[in-house]
Amino acid sequence: MSEIKSKINKAKETFASGRTLSYEFRTKQLLQLKRLLQENGEVLAKALHEDFKKSKFESYFTEINLVIGEIDSTLHHLKEWMEPEKRENSLVTFFDSVQVRREPLGVILVIGAWNYPINLTLCPLVGVIAAGNCCVLKPSEVSPKCADVVKNLIERYLDTECYPVIVGAVKETSEILTHKFDHILFTGSTSIGRIVYEAGAKNLTPVTLELGGKSPVYLDDSVNVKLAAKRILWGKCVNAGQTCIAPDYVMCNKDVEQKLIDASKEIIQEWYGQDVSKSQDYPRIVNDNHYRRVAKFLKDGQIAVGGQSKEEERFIAPTLLTGVQPGDQVMSEEIFGPVLPIVNVGSAKEAIDFINSRAKPLSLYIFSTNPQVQELILNNTSSGSVVVNDTLLQFAVDTLPFGGVGDSGIGHYHGKFSFDTFSHKKAVILKNYNPIGEAIAGARYPPYSDKKLNF
Ligand code: NAD
Repeated sequence: MSEIKSKINKAKETFASGRTLSYEFRTKQLLQLKRLLQENGEVLAKALHEDFKKSKFESYFTEINLVIGEIDSTLHHLKEWMEPEKRENSLVTFFDSVQVRREPLGVILVIGAWNYPINLTLCPLVGVIAAGNCCVLKPSEVSPKCADVVKNLIERYLDTECYPVIVGAVKETSEILTHKFDHILFTGSTSIGRIVYEAGAKNLTPVTLELGGKSPVYLDDSVNVKLAAKRILWGKCVNAGQTCIAPDYVMCNKDVEQKLIDASKEIIQEWYGQDVSKSQDYPRIVNDNHYRRVAKFLKDGQIAVGGQSKEEERFIAPTLLTGVQPGDQVMSEEIFGPVLPIVNVGSAKEAIDFINSRAKPLSLYIFSTNPQVQELILNNTSSGSVVVNDTLLQFAVDTLPFGGVGDSGIGHYHGKFSFDTFSHKKAVILKNYNPIGEAIAGARYPPYSDKKLNF
């Protein structure tokens, strides 16, 4: 039997044994996961640095600490989430108990992306454990150091019969996907998402797809452009733009465009100095393929800010492009790198039409202090999430569902939404033998009459 098959079968056997069901087991594993993160922050940060020169600050801020926060809030609420949820009674069940009970689904497959290799594998795992499931974890091969560290640490800290980790690339993932799971959570590109969805369909496995796309920004002249530029650039420069919810392109008028360019030059200098490539705080593109994919965007439009690149270091400076056309490559593909094209629009209405002519984005950012503009865009567009006057923050708020819509994804997770995603919601009626209840419900028994129908 292959190692993959034996790990999956063991997880299925372990789930069937009931080991993962109790509150005590779930909390123990979650506390172990927290210990894993607390005791190995430096090891994880080193792996992230080796894979794509992510700074220590970003490693803690966007990966390690976010997962710890998710664990803390899950532990805080878990008992309450596991309780049967009372639902409203109808006349027929007036004297009975009507409930929704959450039961674990079974063995969940989590396939992670490389860009936040700790967060995007361990954050779903928190919900999987909390809901009482077993989990097969497949980190991305594109960040190999992180994949190995995640595997080694999970094997040291968690019950590996319940939560096996399988490292590997397309061949291994394809083999994993031939097996039947009770749910699959996939984070990655829309094209591979389709493959995962098809594999799930063969076994009627429900699938959560956390995909990507082009997340637009609308910027108008009501805001403090310097501050707005700071927040937009932060969203674009964190992880060198290799963030699924990074602002992909900006829509604004010509006047605002010039203010954004001037402000961006100042901000980039403030943050990274004269030569961005010398800054310890600015990450690199993850590998040569991705470098070439992002570098080709520098040929579209005109470079208004940045534009420097060094292939041997996989460095691309934060870059603003003007004069791009809707049909240019930079406007057709997800950028997933530190290049920010600006598209000129004359009004919020024009921006709405532009957004709606394209695939539904994962996120949408509105920079305007005008409540009418905010509401107009909110009410006339569809996206996985919206942040008004900032970027990326939605990922860190675990009381919000995180997910896409249309081409940017199916389903969502984080906090209670993870717990629900990885639980079956079982409808339960606990009926009793109350004589008054029986008299009311007794109308259902034959012999039937029109009088009974009107009851
Ligand atoms: P990807 O789709 O190339 O890979 C994701 C996972 O799928 C990896 O684990 C990989 O091993 C596996 N995989 C790759 N090819 C496969 C195949 N043919 N069959 C089966 N499995 C296969 O994505 P990526 O490059 O790791 O990540 C970048 C993409 O992910 C971007 O589009 C980004 O927007 C998106 N993303 C989305 C989120 C989100 O939460 N919505 C988060 C991060 C990244």
